[in-house]
Amino acid sequence: MIGRDNEQTPHLGDSVLDSALDSVPVGAIEAGGTKFVCGIGSVDGEIHDRISFPTGPPEETLAQAIDYFAGRGVQAIGVGSFGPIDLRAGSAKYGFVTTTPKVGWANFDFLGTLRRSFDVPYGWDTDVNAAAYGEAIWGAARGLDSCVYYTIGTGVGVGVYAEGRLLHGLLHPEGGHLRLRRHPDDTFAGCCPYHGDCLEGMAAGPALQARWGVPGHELAADHPAWEIEAHYIAESIAAAVLLLSPRRIILGGGVMQQEHLLPLIRQRAAASLNGYVAASELAEGLGEYIVAPGLGTQSGLRGALALGIRALEQSRSGLGDSSLSGI
Ligand SMILES: [Zn+2]
Repeated sequence: MIGRDNEQTPHLGDSVLDSALDSVPVGAIEAGGTKFVCGIGSVDGEIHDRISFPTGPPEETLAQAIDYFAGRGVQAIGVGSFGPIDLRAGSAKYGFVTTTPKVGWANFDFLGTLRRSFDVPYGWDTDVNAAAYGEAIWGAARGLDSCVYYTIGTGVGVGVYAEGRLLHGLLHPEGGHLRLRRHPDDTFAGCCPYHGDCLEGMAAGPALQARWGVPGHELAADHPAWEIEAHYIAESIAAAVLLLSPRRIILGGGVMQQEHLLPLIRQRAAASLNGYVAASELAEGLGEYIVAPGLGTQSGLRGALALGIRALEQSRSGLGDSSLSGI
């Protein structure tokens, strides 16, 4: 049963049928802008089988996912999707990808397409909220009632888990597009098509490539790129700490595979906060506070599994699936 080891997330647990669910297969989809990962897992959080393929046109891509799950007996499916997506309970467009510039995906009925093949409960959230959820249930924020999860890769996404639930609000948080104080040595204009020099425009993988002429993984650990990179990520973390007061910050995504970046970000975030927030978690160099994902590169898929398990539990306990409960 999801959350049974997580005392601070009681809404996830207390299923009346938990033991009956232990062997039930649950589907998970981590729908990224460049890659889809599909898996089949169980209520204990284990992924037993997985497949990945490039994200192409929506109908073709969903057909591959549907082929994968066909005949596997999944009793629920959780989806963590790139966005923006519609998460509003009761919305006619619930389950749709909305305004993405990704060709063919704008206004696509993602969940409806799956529903036509599998009549099961669905969990549905952003890829980064799913990752935050996976980390809260089984990863680096296990046992905590809040965390903020960043993915810093081809784009920047920010998922928010607050007081034991995923934060949606008006649409869902879009913290990757915050505008931040510019690094004093940085003259790069930024490459976000909407904002230019927002966090994504300054710090995602394409920004590293555009600014320095080579991909991030080709830049040496002592290259000045990393201090500038750390500056923008740290500025956004300071904003998240001040605005949301999360108990932990988790940094994932391809750019964060550069292991020398994390200590730089901690230093910069500490400098930016300058001791103002008086919490013991923020002492000791932030080493326990700003961390790598506890689930490695699996946060998104495991989080999608958690969304599926939650939808199954809600369904079996008569609460309906997450589209109706609005969680
Ligand atoms: Zn932007």
